[in-house]
Amino acid sequence: MLLNDSNYYSDEANREFFSVSQFKSFMSCEARAIAELNGEYKRPVTRALLVGSFVDHYFEGTLDDFMKENPAIFTRKHELRAEFKRANEIIKTVKEDVKFMDSLSGEKQRIFTFDLFGVPWKAKLDSYNPGKAITDLKVVARMYKLPQWRYDIQGAIYQKGVEIVTGEKLPFYLAVVTKEKVMDRDIWQVPQSTLDMALRQVEENIGRYADIKAGLIEPVHCGKCDYCKSIKQASVRNYNELLEV
Ligand SMILES: [Zn+2]
Repeated sequence: MLLNDSNYYSDEANREFFSVSQFKSFMSCEARAIAELNGEYKRPVTRALLVGSFVDHYFEGTLDDFMKENPAIFTRKHELRAEFKRANEIIKTVKEDVKFMDSLSGEKQRIFTFDLFGVPWKAKLDSYNPGKAITDLKVVARMYKLPQWRYDIQGAIYQKGVEIVTGEKLPFYLAVVTKEKVMDRDIWQVPQSTLDMALRQVEENIGRYADIKAGLIEPVHCGKCDYCKSIKQASVRNYNELLEV
């Protein structure tokens, strides 16, 4: 299928293509990833996640539509909730930061599709600047928590995908702003060696995930995520298991 803005996030597109978020979903729990693909489970959209989306949509130029589609960002009196007033302050601050804005000055939300490691992928880039860089915008709670979200995997797949489609290998940056009272912000380049390592990790795991997606092998249940808890039945267990974690 040919992807565009209206079908990019559709169930059909998710079944046909892998994406960075789908790959990361398989990494954290294979059973949940499959349940999401089959429409049996939806991860709740928290307000914290919506704050990031709010800022993303502003820079995409689609904030009006986003606000219409997400009434949860308003109070009953139809005022913006505190988190989203904060999001507006974040936007105002980064708009005044020339370096930050420059890092995001490429083509917005460009869709790429490509074959990598034997499977079709889709990617939607926050800022694609041919000849210069790929940059993704992140709104996070704390700067030091950045690596735990494995954005190196995102960078590795975006970089490789752009290279496959255009023949050009571009550096990958994260333009990051924090939600702290005093906002921190920086533009982090993910080193090539880190991207290379992340890409190898994708290569090592994608075959298994593709087989699970095709129904050839059974997904493993992590046993700890909300999806696994929602479908489990109680069992009698050894108390000392709890001491080993
Ligand atoms: Zn799980």
